[in-house]
Amino acid sequence: MKAAVETLTPLRSKDPFDVWSIRSDFPILNRKVNGKPLVYLDNAATTQKPMCVVDSLRRYYLEDNSNIHRGVHYLSQKATEGYENSRKNLCGFINAQQTQEIIFVRGTTEGINLVANSFVKKRINAGEEILITGMEHHSNIVPWQIVCQETGAILRVAPINDKGEIILEEYEKMLSPKVKFVSLVHISNSLGTVNPVKQMIEMAHAHDIPVLIDGAQTVSHMKLDVQDLNCDFYVFSGHKMFGPTGIGVLYGKSEYLENMSPYQGGGDMIKSVTFEKTIYNDLPYKFEAGTPNIAGATALGAASDYINKIGIDNIYAYEQDLLAYATQALLSVDGLRMIGAAKNKSAVISFMLEDVHPHDIGTIIDSEGVAIRTGHHCTQPVMQRFGIPATARASFAMYNTKDEVDALIRSIEKAKKIFR
Ligand code: PMP
Repeated sequence: MKAAVETLTPLRSKDPFDVWSIRSDFPILNRKVNGKPLVYLDNAATTQKPMCVVDSLRRYYLEDNSNIHRGVHYLSQKATEGYENSRKNLCGFINAQQTQEIIFVRGTTEGINLVANSFVKKRINAGEEILITGMEHHSNIVPWQIVCQETGAILRVAPINDKGEIILEEYEKMLSPKVKFVSLVHISNSLGTVNPVKQMIEMAHAHDIPVLIDGAQTVSHMKLDVQDLNCDFYVFSGHKMFGPTGIGVLYGKSEYLENMSPYQGGGDMIKSVTFEKTIYNDLPYKFEAGTPNIAGATALGAASDYINKIGIDNIYAYEQDLLAYATQALLSVDGLRMIGAAKNKSAVISFMLEDVHPHDIGTIIDSEGVAIRTGHHCTQPVMQRFGIPATARASFAMYNTKDEVDALIRSIEKAKKIFR
């Protein structure tokens, strides 16, 4: 355990927090991979989990396990309390107006599919349009294609420039009266671009078009205030904000959620059932059919508390500093080309190295204990836009350090030697 920690640089006075202390909350960061200290730079795929999240899961199963909402007994009430308290935490975390606007889902993907099925599909007709951007994750493309196939609607795509930024004028021009829904990624998982979503929402609202924001890459990196953004729907995944897999949140404005039909039918989403008629439950339960991921939801509350304790603005400042350092270091590698040079970027760096296939880079780097992701990152249209099959991607979180960036650079130099 000690060895890996000792490789870290001591706290500098300008650091907004003590990264050593944060790292000590994440036991996995002390493990070795291939005999080397793990350097985990695949945070856009999923983040590691702090002890408080693991403890919450453990405590739930060891002490409180019971089904929620339906029981009068002690354990059921404890489990319900944990689940509903977490909803309150998350409501505060994203500054939603009310807890009923927080729907627990499996993750970003399920949240988008819920809105596609229960909202957009019901409101759109053949020939009308759904607008997305050229940098969407597959989970913000395919659900809309399915809606289009089923309704005859048309999927339109706002283009991006060579830096990987949205071309705002083109986006604005595309907001015609035919557009009935807009769905935008907040931060691109393959380019790191932070989109000016507040402005883009305003532009869509000027035409009375509701907007969903895919915040999968936002919640653990940047302050999120859904009321300030004024988005109509916002989705994110727990596992990308130090929480468990299989749990996430769909935020929706209650005026929309109230009028939407349920996504799934089953237990807990009803007030009464007869063979003739079912009366649906109130929000948010109308959208939470069946026994949910109680342990996951409860632990997600612990994850949001953990982020709050460190302070999201501190995390943002720390990661921006790390991004600047990593960008400079990577650009100094001869033959390395970055994909994605947006002015406003999150700590995600996609790159190519001469004509070495990204998978080969990833494999060599892995042998040095450095975990990065290689491939299309579920954004094949982005790869097509840049005329490449794949990239290597280093994505950072608040527990990463400049020493780890240096380890990445050393491993890339090693890969270069092997493939030269
Ligand atoms: N959107 C973006 C921008 C993502 O990065 C991801 C995950 N890589 C998703 C959506 C899908 O998230 P999940 O698989 O957790 O549903």
